[in-house]
Parts: sequence; structure tokens; C-alpha cells
Amino acid sequence: MTFSDLKLIEPLTNALAKKGYQTPTPIQQKAIPHILDGKDLFGCAQTGTGKTAAFALPILQLLYERRSISGNQIRALILAPTRELAIQIGENFSAYGANLNLRHTVVFGGVSQVPQAQAMRKGVDILIATPGRLLDLMSQGIIRINQIELFVLDEADRMLDMGFIHDIKKILSKLPAQKQTLLFSATLPDEIKSLADGLLQQPVLVRVTPVSSAAEAVKQSVYYVNKENKRPLLHHVIVENHIDHALVFTRTKRGADRIAKDLNKRGIKAESIHGDKSQGARERALKGFKERSIRILVATDIASRGIDVDKLSHVINYEIPELAETYVHRIGRTGRAGESGTAISFCTSEEQPYMRDIIKLINKNIETIKSHPFNN
Ligand code: AMP
Repeated sequence: MTFSDLKLIEPLTNALAKKGYQTPTPIQQKAIPHILDGKDLFGCAQTGTGKTAAFALPILQLLYERRSISGNQIRALILAPTRELAIQIGENFSAYGANLNLRHTVVFGGVSQVPQAQAMRKGVDILIATPGRLLDLMSQGIIRINQIELFVLDEADRMLDMGFIHDIKKILSKLPAQKQTLLFSATLPDEIKSLADGLLQQPVLVRVTPVSSAAEAVKQSVYYVNKENKRPLLHHVIVENHIDHALVFTRTKRGADRIAKDLNKRGIKAESIHGDKSQGARERALKGFKERSIRILVATDIASRGIDVDKLSHVINYEIPELAETYVHRIGRTGRAGESGTAISFCTSEEQPYMRDIIKLINKNIETIKSHPFNN
């Protein structure tokens, strides 16, 4: 199957070809035709499945094909839980929409609103926003969403986790009744089901890769090691396996800083990314990592959410997460969109119970690497 088989127009297929994407991912195959048909959609899919393109491509096409009926009004609104995700969605729209004359902008909190307000005044067709800043700009009369044709609620479960439900309800109350709505969520708790019931009209349900099968494509191994040897082991593993690009997960922010510092001392370019760093520092680290001037990015789970790097080959669990689901989410950062990846975990004897939970959840054995200098 190709993107043209999905009836995507040439300006989009050309942009996709330029990105090097040849085959639509399962969520794209299943969702795009329905969205182009004007249907509401409930997409059960996590990051890494290609879900952003699954909504961005048909939205671009629909807006392009229908001439603007609303003058200088926003025509599509995409709500995302975090700045990082909002920025990434914006990057996706830039890439796929390169050959179309549609304007988009991204608004999020934690930075000055002045450039965002300026962009809004110039007029945008597609707005990507985090809930808090959107409400802020709406209350100042800078943004009006009463002419929206298409509305996307992305990572709805994370929105609820982060306590955005009231903000979302406020935003929903300002949207026009007549619109096409797309809702994406990685999990399906009851709260999400009731949100969907209220929001979607005769939706098509599209579901891909449940959590446990996400782990299937990833080559996984574990090193048993004492706590004090984890740092030298990390250096050893990177050098020995010629790893030139990896995301390393730690439990704490200070741990992330210490590991990055230690790697730099050992001659491996590394940066840490976590909630105590400024927005600017986080974006710089992410950019450096994407451009490969930074070889190793060390992140806490919260900071890593939504990190989207093409073809991330390695994920290293410096510490084993207490929740087995977290492990699956972490390793889901590699081996994306059908490519195979590698996940390596460092486990102390205290962490063994967590490892056992993980093996139970993924229902698959994880290879133990015994031949390393810190094995005792
Ligand atoms: P997402 O689930 O939207 O975060 O996308 C995961 C990653 O897959 C992103 O880096 C996308 O740029 C990439 N991607 C999306 N669609 C495709 C495709 N059809 N072929 C290859 N890579 C893709």
C-alpha cells in the first residue's frame, strides 16, 4: 500500500517522499480514509505508531480542498498535553504541508506570549496548542475558536493524567457544535470513554499496537550489575556496542545530570533533559540530539514523554522503572514505525522484582548479558 492508495493528493505524497516515507503505518492506513470522509474518529494508538501523520495529512488535505469558508479564522485546532508534543506536531505540519499554502502556528505556556499573539494576528489556518496557554489567549480575545472545522484532542489520557480535564471542558464549550472531531489516546480508561461519548458523533474506532506488542519489535537485553558499577558499565556498553545515538532513562533529575556529566568526562558527548531545566535548555538538548551533535540524551520519564526522534536505535534503562508499563513506553521510543530497535537495561539485585514484573507484562524472556567486566 502507498500513500496515493489512500487518496492523498500529490503535494502531500511529494512531501512524504521527501521525508523518505514509503508505506503508511497501520494507523495511517486505517484512519486516513475515514478522516478524509469527514467522520469523527477515536484512535487508540500511542506515540511511535505514526499517529501524528495519521491526523495531520488528512487535515491538511481537507483544509486545502475546501476553500476557506471562514475568512481569517482558525479552521483546525489540535490540543496537545505538553509543549514538546505541541512543537513536534507543529514540525510534522511544517514537513507534510510544505507544498500547501496553509498557515499553522504553535502556542504553549512557559514562554512569552508576544510572538504567539503576533502570529495569531497574521492569521492561521491550523492552531496547535496546549490547554493552559490556549485558554489564556482566548480570554484575552487573541484567539477565537468558534469557527473550527476540525478538532483534534491528542494524547487524551495524558491530558487527564496531567489534570487538564477542566481546561479541556472549558475549551470544548467554546467550540462550534458542527465540526469533525478526532480523539487519540494510548489507553482506554473509563474517563476517556465517557469523554469520547460526549465528544464524538458516530465515531469510527481505530486501534493499533496494544502495549505488549509494541515490545515485540524491540531487541531487549539486561545486564545485572551493582549500583556503583552502573556508570562505568554505561560507558562500556556504549563503546563496546558502537552505540552512536541513544536515549538513557534515569529515575531522578540529579541522576540524569550526574550521568551526562560522567559521560562527557569520559569523552562521550551527552546532555540531560528534565523538568528543572529551562524550556530553552530542553529544546537545545533535544535539537542537538536530533541533529546528532549530542550522542547520548539522558532523560527522566516525564521529560522524555513525547520525545520524537526518527530512527532512534537504542534505549538504555539505567534504572529499572517500578511500573512495568513505563518500561514498555520507554522501549517504545525505539524501533518506531516498523524499524527494529534495541533496549538495554541495567538491573541491580534490588531492582530484580521490577524486572520480573516487566517480563510478566511483555510475556517474553529478556536476554541476560553475562560477559561484561562488571558482572559479579
Ligand atoms: P508518531 O507516532 O506520530 O510520534 O510518529 C512516530 C515516528 O514515525 C515519527 O518520527 C514520524 O516522523 C515517523 N513516521 C510517521 N509515519 C511514517 C511512515 N509512514 N513511515 C516511516 N516513518 C513514519
